[in-house]
Amino acid sequence: MRWTAPPLVCREAVELVSDFLEGSLPRRERRRLERHLAACDACDAYLEQMRAVIAASGRVTADDLDPDVLEGLVTLFHQYQQES
Ligand SMILES: [Zn+2]
Repeated sequence: MRWTAPPLVCREAVELVSDFLEGSLPRRERRRLERHLAACDACDAYLEQMRAVIAASGRVTADDLDPDVLEGLVTLFHQYQQES
């Protein structure tokens, strides 16, 4: 297996999503995020959730997110922390 850039972990991906949606993410970071999203259902779902919130309200805060999505991400983060 070969990596051209270090793979994103979910925590990093989530941090990048809001910049990604605002269009302020540098192209190289956007590529890394897109690659992560293609392989990670949880972050892909998170992105979709963020998109829906932004479409509805024009802006996004953590308070606007579906608690189920947040809870799923928190679980995911704990798994990653245990693995590393
Ligand atoms: Zn992920």
